[in-house]
Amino acid sequence: MTTVAVIGLGAMGGRIARRFLAAGHDVVVWNRSPARADELVELGASAAATPAEAAGRSEAVATMLSDPAALAEVSEGPAGVAAGAGASTTILEMSTVGPAAVTRLAAELGPGTGLLDAPVLGSLTEAEAGSLRIFVGGADELVERWTPLLSALGSPRHVGPLGAGAAAKLVANTTLFGTLGLLGEALALADGLGLTRAATFDVLAGTPLAAQAERRRRAIESGEFPARFSLALARKDADLIAAAAEDAGVDLRLAEAARGWLADAEAAGLGERDYSALLEWILERDDA
Ligand code: NAP
Repeated sequence: MTTVAVIGLGAMGGRIARRFLAAGHDVVVWNRSPARADELVELGASAAATPAEAAGRSEAVATMLSDPAALAEVSEGPAGVAAGAGASTTILEMSTVGPAAVTRLAAELGPGTGLLDAPVLGSLTEAEAGSLRIFVGGADELVERWTPLLSALGSPRHVGPLGAGAAAKLVANTTLFGTLGLLGEALALADGLGLTRAATFDVLAGTPLAAQAERRRRAIESGEFPARFSLALARKDADLIAAAAEDAGVDLRLAEAARGWLADAEAAGLGERDYSALLEWILERDDA
């Protein structure tokens, strides 16, 4: 049994804390809006007053925050995770924040405090079921030590040194946004050229977009896009992809186009909707 803190109890972090509790670990929780910890405390978790206190009471600290600014907010300063973590603590950074934020976090930590970046692919259903794909970056011995704990959440894959997990997550999301944007444009083109939806889905079933078209068909036809991963977070990821590509000197033109679609949809007020509502946005523009 491990004492593990979960910092950030949003859609993903709350589910991660529940998985740790169900696996029999001692779970310490902290969230900026304290009420989000209540349900977990009822399930047996212990609430900490600050991220520093949570880190000081735990062997491992999983951070699951929305973006790099939120991660910096909870890790830095006298009440932050870095101030509370000791030489035997390991931070498991699971948010989607990109490699630069992982480097910044590493610089905050005292000597001896361990750090792995371990962002996840999969959404609410996978977090509940413990079937997330976890991209882990960091030293071999730390990965070996924390693989059993992370396995309560899904399948950890050691993808390289510190920062490689954050990089792998950006690569994965580049494909998600590009594919979604392309599907939206293919549907918009079909509408514009007068094809019926039935004919369009039949055409798409024989293309590289077949699986994505099938997966999104019900939502497109019903106009209901169940909230799992907010469009605002997807736009944030698209910005992280653009920044990381620029740092690496890589020219991403399709990803940049997908970022533009996400940014326009967010500016139009769709930020709190599921990111797949981008399809509706692209199609509505087509109707205009
Ligand atoms: P979420 O429900 O919006 O939760 C965000 C969390 O960050 C909340 O606990 C929020 O606290 C906290 N937070 C935001 N700004 C903060 C600040 N300045 N200081 C302290 N805490 C702050 O987001 P989520 O869907 O769980 O996503 C969390 C991370 O996982 C993101 O990096 C996301 O990209 C990634 N991710 C999400 C999914 C998904 O399907 N949802 C899948 C894979 C990866 P409050 O409760 O106080 O607002």
